[in-house]
Amino acid sequence: MDLLIKGGTVVTAESTFKADVAVTNGKISAIGSNLKADKNTEVVDAKGKLVLPGAIDGHTHLAMPFGGTISTDDYYDGTKSAACGGTTTVFDFILQQKGEPMLDAIKRRDALAAPDAAVDYSFHIGVSDVTTPELLDSMEDAVKFGIPSFKVFMVYDFGVDDGSFYQVLQKAAKIGALVGVHAENRDVNNVLIAQYLAEGKTDAWWHYMSKNESVEGEADVRAINLAKMAGTSLYIVHLANKQGMEAVRAARDEGYPIFAETCPQYLYFTSEVYKRERARDFVCSPPMKNKESQDAIWAGIKSGDIATVATDHCPFTQAEKDWGITKPDGTPGNFTTIPNGCAGIENMYPYMLSEANKGRITFNKAVELCATNPSKLFGLDYCKGALRVGLDADIVLYDPKKNFTITNAAMHGATDHTIWEGAKLKGYPVATYCRGKLVFKDGEFLGKRGEGKLIKCKPIKLKTPEL
Ligand SMILES: [Zn+2]
Repeated sequence: MDLLIKGGTVVTAESTFKADVAVTNGKISAIGSNLKADKNTEVVDAKGKLVLPGAIDGHTHLAMPFGGTISTDDYYDGTKSAACGGTTTVFDFILQQKGEPMLDAIKRRDALAAPDAAVDYSFHIGVSDVTTPELLDSMEDAVKFGIPSFKVFMVYDFGVDDGSFYQVLQKAAKIGALVGVHAENRDVNNVLIAQYLAEGKTDAWWHYMSKNESVEGEADVRAINLAKMAGTSLYIVHLANKQGMEAVRAARDEGYPIFAETCPQYLYFTSEVYKRERARDFVCSPPMKNKESQDAIWAGIKSGDIATVATDHCPFTQAEKDWGITKPDGTPGNFTTIPNGCAGIENMYPYMLSEANKGRITFNKAVELCATNPSKLFGLDYCKGALRVGLDADIVLYDPKKNFTITNAAMHGATDHTIWEGAKLKGYPVATYCRGKLVFKDGEFLGKRGEGKLIKCKPIKLKTPEL
């Protein structure tokens, strides 16, 4: 036994109990009362602390090209920041290039991630080209390699049309893959953008209005219908509106394997942020929605119709956000020239656990949303996402009494601001272990560049709404 975490309160998705947790060779080797240390065991006193599985962030964009720049956090900065917020595995997005077979896309991106990642990681593949049978069939190579999850964009020029989306869904059903979708109505979004700009409406508020509740909700409904037609499961990423939430619930009530992810920014902020002075810092897609939508998403969390919480972490600097005022070439900018995305990778678990600590949800629910459900959905529950003998020792010690105010200065990523500045959390992670190795303690990152490894996932076959 290498490590013994003694006297803490273990929290899993199902239950809460006092127990010691033993770690041997990076894996959980025992959970029980009064476990005895060996001569060489490091013993950690966890009295008064919660002992939790490390979080799995199912949605990040590290070093991602977007809007004429690249997101600020590379694989090192992003995973370092993750570790300091109790996240021990991140799923990053690969964007398939036109004509690129899926396996080549994985290798191209892993060449960037492998030398830098400080916590374990895996990928979803953003599909942009399935226009030949060979490219469509190459999805199966990715599944065999251990990357069985794909994403399609119903919006953006690099996204797919409904025909390609449908083909990807059909293929996924055959090969044991999960399809995620960024659901916003591209055509309506483009029409609204053109109309607002013609009317001289250029500030960040109009980003929200051009991607309003209905623009997202319509696409959610259509995506669910396409999945039903193809007879397969669907994972709606970053769900942020009431109409979509209701469509997910209705499909699940009918027995369809439809799953939804939301993000802390939709649970904490509303569209009112787009009236702030630096509204452009809050520009992400989908944008924050109105209070009615926020209430519906919280209700979806409580009813179990939201399966996961993830961050959509994709930070840009304030100078880049200012391209909404003046473009890099000196000409006037508008809401379409603001790079889309915000930092959040270090805030997800602390925020959700704080909401649990304040009594809004249970700690078990926070663990389920941030760790256990992502591991089941994405095919890595054989090694991660829970505290169970035999699984990787990805463990977070959480102090429910430590109060914390989020400031960019206290974050560990590379960007120069956070939309969470000043947010007050009740309780905070005090230590993070990745495969038994201490990577974060008392505000300090202790891990190393390149120590994270690529996690291969099992094929995904979801037939019912239950995980
Ligand atoms: Zn995203």
